[in-house]
Amino acid sequence: MTSGRVLVVGSVNLDLLYRVPHLPRPGETLLGASLERLSGGKGGNQAHAAAGIAGAAVTVALVACVGDDDAATMLRADLARVGVDVAGMITVPGPSGTALIAVDERGENTIVVIPGANAAWPDGVMTRLDLRAGDVVVVQLEIPFPIVEDVVRRAAAAGARVVLNAAPLDRRAADLLDAVDVIVVNEVEAAELFGLDGDVDAEALTAIATELPATLVVTLGARGVLYAPPGGRVQSRPAYAVDAIDTVGAGDAFVGAFAAAWAASGSLETAVRAGSAAGALTATVAGARHPRLARAAVEALCGPLG
Ligand code: ADP
Repeated sequence: MTSGRVLVVGSVNLDLLYRVPHLPRPGETLLGASLERLSGGKGGNQAHAAAGIAGAAVTVALVACVGDDDAATMLRADLARVGVDVAGMITVPGPSGTALIAVDERGENTIVVIPGANAAWPDGVMTRLDLRAGDVVVVQLEIPFPIVEDVVRRAAAAGARVVLNAAPLDRRAADLLDAVDVIVVNEVEAAELFGLDGDVDAEALTAIATELPATLVVTLGARGVLYAPPGGRVQSRPAYAVDAIDTVGAGDAFVGAFAAAWAASGSLETAVRAGSAAGALTATVAGARHPRLARAAVEALCGPLG
């Protein structure tokens, strides 16, 4: 059963991206070449991708905490512009989450994240969450773990379907898998979460998928994706061939598009196709959000989403 609603619960950040000739050494003062203010954060990025491909039958809402600063205005507006329902975003005293991203001439980067409002979720906020049977609830780990736990448990109790993107990895995510419908991780996170020391391939994941109460989805960057329904056989989908220039945000686009396509179709295969296409398209632009991520562009790559 589907309610046609995707609810993303997670982080939003103001990304301050500056370009430098080389990454600064301790004590060094450098002249940067440019400064960009971009909307980011895993929750915001995923809601952006979900709204981009949602189509008429699916609505996308984001619950996230922002500060009482100018950044919050931009963070809200950027999501509202692409059709994300931001009415449930919460303002808390202090600064919004901020990521300071230095990129050098070779494309190497360093990132400092100051969580700000993402670490300041008010007590009891989850009791106000409007959860319905058939909703697809998406959550990642850039917000306090007790909030994640609360969302997952409440969503499962309400009969919603839960997509947990265990990134950045926290091994406590393993304790939530009984209440999760789909766990999405990249290769590095999969190795750490499931204690794999060799290759993350179909063979290694088969033993894990057999035991897992949730659908397993492991993204492998340009090598595509491996996925298996609970207790089922591991299948693979190659990545779509694109001219990738920057894979930042590909994983977030995958998760958001996966959730929206799953909410609409109920089909794991369709959701994996949509996620793969959105991830590939996002790798063709600089930055974490593709400014024109639309259903038509995704379908042109991966075929009809139904
Ligand atoms: P993360 O950003 O979390 O590390 P991945 O890099 O695994 O996530 O990317 C998520 C998905 O996006 C991949 O499974 C793939 O489908 C798509 N993708 C990522 N990089 C590329 C690429 N270079 N070319 C085509 N598709 C890509």
